[in-house]
Amino acid sequence: MKYITTPIYYINAKPHLGHAYTTIAADVLARYWRGRGQKVFFLTGTDEHGLKVERAAAKEGLAPKVFADKMAAQFLEAWKKLDINCDFFIRTTDKAHEKYVTEFASKLYRQGDIYKDIYRGLYCVGCEAYIQDDDLVDGKCLLHNQVPQKIKEDVYFFRLSKYQEHLKKIIETDIFRIEPKERKNEVLGFINQEGGLKDVAISRSSSKVKWGIPLPWDKEHVFYVWFDALLNYLSALKIAQISCWPPDIQLMAKEILRFHALLWPAILSAGEESLPKKLFVHGYFTIEGKKMSKTLGNVVDPLEIAKKYGNGPLRYFLLREFPFGEDGDYAEKNLIRRYNSELADDLGNLLQRTIVMINRFKIKVTARQREFRHNGIIEEKIENLDFQGALVEINRAVKGANAYIDKEKPWKLVDSARKSKEIGLETEEKKRFEEIFAHLISILHQVAYYLEPFMPREVLEIQRQLKSLKPEPIFPKIK
Ligand SMILES: [Zn+2]
Repeated sequence: MKYITTPIYYINAKPHLGHAYTTIAADVLARYWRGRGQKVFFLTGTDEHGLKVERAAAKEGLAPKVFADKMAAQFLEAWKKLDINCDFFIRTTDKAHEKYVTEFASKLYRQGDIYKDIYRGLYCVGCEAYIQDDDLVDGKCLLHNQVPQKIKEDVYFFRLSKYQEHLKKIIETDIFRIEPKERKNEVLGFINQEGGLKDVAISRSSSKVKWGIPLPWDKEHVFYVWFDALLNYLSALKIAQISCWPPDIQLMAKEILRFHALLWPAILSAGEESLPKKLFVHGYFTIEGKKMSKTLGNVVDPLEIAKKYGNGPLRYFLLREFPFGEDGDYAEKNLIRRYNSELADDLGNLLQRTIVMINRFKIKVTARQREFRHNGIIEEKIENLDFQGALVEINRAVKGANAYIDKEKPWKLVDSARKSKEIGLETEEKKRFEEIFAHLISILHQVAYYLEPFMPREVLEIQRQLKSLKPEPIFPKIK
């Protein structure tokens, strides 16, 4: 079984385009594997504890759990609307998850990997994390543009420093694989920095944060939200009663790389669990050249875009526009441009003209099999998470088929046959005509097959039209 995860999303805001990006990519991979006969366990969910949720709930006058229920429902609903088919949706307020976390942590505490000490340092409420001096610019958190609080308190630490050499070894040798390579190097650089890895605070005083899982051996503390959240990848399997540990691939954006690349494998090693096979880290994207932020008011709601242009076009665009492991930009005008050229003019047009001509000339066409499947290029690209590369190949096949029609001019074949003999086509021309359209129909079937993970809903429609031979514009041009 293939086990694939997205991070669980923090519920202090409703799902935005960044959440959708990771989750759509995971869904494409899950659909791709399922389509090739693999069993898949695709996990996503919501991260529901912590100070930010407590505050967001208070702002709405709701109890944290009521607020969490409302927000989790929004995420579930969004994924359903975007044709994202996860196999399980984990919520960290699930009692079984909380139980799993306390048991796991107790083991680490008993064996000395968790200990109590005084923490003196800086805390960013935005990050919901203790931060280091190097994370500051002009005394402010780089991510949140906020002055961190100075804190001195008793907390529990996880002995990350103990795992430094182990982490270095498993990352260097790809036993624990981090992709793309630049991200792996970034993590190694972090391990190798002067002073090395420091132990990580994993609890907060429950006088400051109430909305969290209490430490089973000390009720004055709750788990730091990240410690609790990371364990969802394990607890979900217990709740779903499925055994497919370890994950084949864990997808995430780069801002949470350090947690997943250092703390996570160290916790797993301490708990004597085997390690995920691969972390794949995708880039950030800007919105029309600007950072997406509430302050700028440019947070994009993926559901609005999908409503306007369709699910498939949104999914297609996000993975087509820039390479999955790199930073990029989202701009609605570029979505429209790509939609009009690659979906309306190339794919929609190919489908439409093929079916229209078959109908007009009343030719029975039997599709041939596997016109471009055998070369394996698209499979290779999807397996390597080069979604852009796969979509470029698919588009190349569509463009090729349109050029083939322009070159063969099948309508001329019909015209000349009709002129020479008024009833029907001459045998030879008829044969050629059938050949041409058998080729085109096969290409369209293949394109549908490869596009299915990217745009499942639209592909169903393409397949329906190929069967019924009733053409309807599937990607009407956007003016
Ligand atoms: Zn911050």
